[in-house]
Amino acid sequence: MYRSILHLDLDAFFVSVERRKNPSLNGLPLIVGGSGRRGVVAACSYEARKFGVRSAMPMYQALQLCPQAKVVSGDMEAYSHYSHLVTEIIADRAPLFEKSSIDEFYIDLSGMDKFFGAFRWAKELRQVIIRESGLPISMALSVNKLVSKVATGEYKPNAEVEIPPGKEGDFFAPLAIEKLPMVGQHTTQALHELGVRTVLHLRAISLEELTRAFGKSGQSLWNKARALDDSPVVPYRDQKSISTESTFSHDTVDAARLKSILMAMVEKITFQLREQHKLTACVTVKIRYSDFETVSKQRHIDFTSADHEIVGVAFELFEQLRDRKRLIRLIGVRLSSFVHGHHQIHLFNDTEDNLNLYGALDYIKHKHGVDKIVRASTVDVNKRLREEVNLFNGKVISKKKS
Ligand SMILES: [Mg+2]
Repeated sequence: MYRSILHLDLDAFFVSVERRKNPSLNGLPLIVGGSGRRGVVAACSYEARKFGVRSAMPMYQALQLCPQAKVVSGDMEAYSHYSHLVTEIIADRAPLFEKSSIDEFYIDLSGMDKFFGAFRWAKELRQVIIRESGLPISMALSVNKLVSKVATGEYKPNAEVEIPPGKEGDFFAPLAIEKLPMVGQHTTQALHELGVRTVLHLRAISLEELTRAFGKSGQSLWNKARALDDSPVVPYRDQKSISTESTFSHDTVDAARLKSILMAMVEKITFQLREQHKLTACVTVKIRYSDFETVSKQRHIDFTSADHEIVGVAFELFEQLRDRKRLIRLIGVRLSSFVHGHHQIHLFNDTEDNLNLYGALDYIKHKHGVDKIVRASTVDVNKRLREEVNLFNGKVISKKKS
């Protein structure tokens, strides 16, 4: 018994939304991103891609390659609106679906073939999405998430493909290894040095050799080469806020210490925000005094998931809120008003350096656990925190959409 997993991916999503808003942009090379000299390309149209423009490229470089490109700054609210619209269309019809990013979905249609035909159902859904949202979208159906995702990537835009059960190995064989998800520059380079360029070449390498060369990811590479993937479609739930709070064993007025703790807390929850591919537009700080009186203050900000921006806002709120004479027993911080988005490409005004910094930090956090890496200024306080503050025992409070 095989599974039927559909992957849906909106084509050049930001670009398509910009054209929906302003049809005069149709057919032009279009770049969405930060317009400053140190801005980054968040997305680009297929017309701009022909000139070599790519996502995450510095804007000045993109404009050297394609000087005639039209540049628009991002509109997260519009992207969020259309993402939500498409999500609702799918939610109304799909038995079980996962929203894996702002513009990508997986639907588990296993068992449907007996009654209706999963591919026919998928084609109809695709037409409804195009009609109701006005946005182009690609889809692929196969026995697992891996093959479906690779297939939409391979055939988009406007893809409508089915890789029938048993044919996934043939489909994968000629593909370049960097087409496999999560095979980054490093792995690609290492494999090239071994003479491996295609998935077919990769299959010739034994599991032992792959494990020796790539550690734990050796097994994952071995599986990918064979188009194997048993990961489930995880139902979509929309988390409305992310927060954390710390109660001190000894009430305190020490502002420097409180701010270090606040910074560590912000780093922890912004990491979770980025892990969920979300951006926040609202920061709330809460203080509870020793007499249990609790006060809080919030501020709306431009969409971000960057520590340095959110820490600054949290500090200001803390200073405005705090009564310097009173002992504090608890502080808390909450992020809310989310939209979906990868921080790597959505920080329209951020610089390349910062994007690389966050990418690297998150990679290490992911690999070694959240507590292992913190800013130098919070290292010392984190040590003390473990002893006297229950920050790391305190759980993150999440409000889920019911
Ligand atoms: Mg897409």
